[in-house]
Amino acid sequence: MEVFKTLAEFRVWKGRLEEHYIKAGSRLRIGFVPTMGALHEGHVSLMQQSRAENDLTILSIFVNPTQFNSVEDLKQYPRTTGQDLEIAHRCGVDAVLIPHGSEELYPDYFSYQVTEKVLSKSFEGEHRPGHFDGMLTVVLKLLNLVRATKAYFGEKDFQQLALIEGMAKAFFLETEIVGCPTVREEDGLAMSSRNLRLSKQERMLAPKLFNTMTTIVDAAEARAELERDGFKVDYLVDHVFSSGKRRLVAASLGDVRLIDNVSLESESSL
Ligand code: AMP
Repeated sequence: MEVFKTLAEFRVWKGRLEEHYIKAGSRLRIGFVPTMGALHEGHVSLMQQSRAENDLTILSIFVNPTQFNSVEDLKQYPRTTGQDLEIAHRCGVDAVLIPHGSEELYPDYFSYQVTEKVLSKSFEGEHRPGHFDGMLTVVLKLLNLVRATKAYFGEKDFQQLALIEGMAKAFFLETEIVGCPTVREEDGLAMSSRNLRLSKQERMLAPKLFNTMTTIVDAAEARAELERDGFKVDYLVDHVFSSGKRRLVAASLGDVRLIDNVSLESESSL
């Protein structure tokens, strides 16, 4: 497995590889999985799907400062690079792009950004102003650098996935955006790097989020139930996306903010 800390080295490697395939007369299918590290089974499922559908899988690990709303949250974000590289290796990833410092990805000193004006303003966007501008900007940079055949994103961050799909369409990006199902713990809690920060007591309460949103039909009632249980709820709403109706939730336990969503279309819906 190759590990690149600079874009220059990454580009040389990728250029050579493509040249080799062109000479051999075949087309290289590249799968790309962008992450912020602290890898868990959710990320593993993305890497596995990419491996199954492509000749080559590239993983990126970059804790993007522009999508955090507070310095404290950025500082507290778990960083487990050694373990991440082991997981990536075990998953059969071919190359990891792990840009060292922000300068590599922001040669413009943060002066350019992508802003979506409608969907990005609600739900997560309303509670985390600027978050989606930062996310879309870094994803566009990464998609342009990697130029993959397919890029894999989790439905766990459903609004993010919808915005990336919209951006790919709006800017005629050639990479196909693939949404992958949310991977959950046995008790229903959606896997997330942030779960590591839950106290023992909070971890015991956390599965109630999924349980409540999937068993109480009325959104306002589900929200009230979570609040009675001690969650600080930012939103719990039913929203129609182009792919169908979904319920989205964001709620905190202590200072750990959890997000989740479920389809309201499938047989198992409320
Ligand atoms: P992150 O490292 O949190 O930015 O996530 C990187 C990618 O993994 C994003 O596309 C996430 O939606 C996806 N992801 C995170 N958690 C899960 C999960 N539990 N199941 C599936 N995908 C996930």
